Amino acid sequence: MEAWQKELAASLVKPAALEEHFGVELPGLEAVSSRYPMRIPPYYLELMEGPGDPLWRQAVPDFAELSEPQGLSDPLGEDDLSPVPALIHRYADRVVLLVSGACALYCRFCTRKRRVGTETMDCSNSQIDAAIEYIATTPAVRDVILSGGDPLLLEDHRLESILSRLRAVDHVEMIRIGSRVPVTLPSRITPELCRMLSRFHPLYLNTHFNHPAELTPESAAACALLADSGIVLGNQTVLLRGVNDHPEIMRRLNVGLLRMRVRPYYLHQMDLACGTAHFRTPIATGLSIMEALRGPTSGLALPHYVIDLPGGLGKVELLPEQRRGSGEAVEVRSPAGLWVSYPDIGS
Ligand SMILES: *Cc1c(COP(=O)(O)O)cnc(C)c1O
Ligand code: SF4
Repeated sequence: MEAWQKELAASLVKPAALEEHFGVELPGLEAVSSRYPMRIPPYYLELMEGPGDPLWRQAVPDFAELSEPQGLSDPLGEDDLSPVPALIHRYADRVVLLVSGACALYCRFCTRKRRVGTETMDCSNSQIDAAIEYIATTPAVRDVILSGGDPLLLEDHRLESILSRLRAVDHVEMIRIGSRVPVTLPSRITPELCRMLSRFHPLYLNTHFNHPAELTPESAAACALLADSGIVLGNQTVLLRGVNDHPEIMRRLNVGLLRMRVRPYYLHQMDLACGTAHFRTPIATGLSIMEALRGPTSGLALPHYVIDLPGGLGKVELLPEQRRGSGEAVEVRSPAGLWVSYPDIGS
């Protein structure tokens, strides 16, 4: 076993272990973690200060996950956009390839929380083979995004096999990897991994920092290794109530990312996934955060604030003029120019 695999194996997976670690009582959380799995690697555990802090909220199960009647199990309509199970094809020229069902840490706000870390996330070799075959026979696809789950939880040789088969397809011009391990398990970013990855340029990696407390020397070193290998680094943040829904936190996060050679890419409005309502903020919150950053902060530090519309209608950049109405009666203009009603929450 490599060092990162040993570290992953030492993760806390039961709320009872958290009670012991922090000396607090967390009665009944097993009911949540048996539905939506929990995993917290030792590295991230050490960054958590205690109940309710912004890292705790991202990582520790919460009763609110079970008490939501109206969330969507497939908020982005991804199941209908899957020509084969391991692939999502929504935009003509790019696809999402689901290569791993597991993550180092199971984020409580995950869009795919109905699937990640459970048996329903089947990323077996045969599923991946079928998806690569689809890509190879679909000439419009020039951009392949490896996702899951977390692609960097695959062992180097499995990842290498997927990358080299994709690279063998003439029309695949670029590959992106979406991974949260620089944030949750930075020891996974080894020099050997980076050497292997650097054979598959142009390669982009979008990671997922949500709070300045996640910008540590360890995560900075992981990002430096990746950047030194020529991988272009971006960051996708989810706007989360009680975690980062404040302009000053967002400013520190985004300028801190630039210092680590990571370019802020998207700020996602928390979508309508079932079991995540307690994280949702009004759209007005995101708009006012963006307004507070624009001007006072380097333009490079500004992500695009986007909303992924339900039913597979796609991502829209949320500019003030893309939204009309207020309170709960909000409409958002879809990429096709239609006004779509969106269940915003009042501010
Ligand atoms: C977000 C997303 C992409 C990538 O979109 P970009 O705006 O190019 O980053 C591709 N496919 C699906 C299904 C997506 O949700
Ligand atoms: S790392 Fe990404 S896919 Fe995995 S649980 Fe977190 S948000 Fe979901």
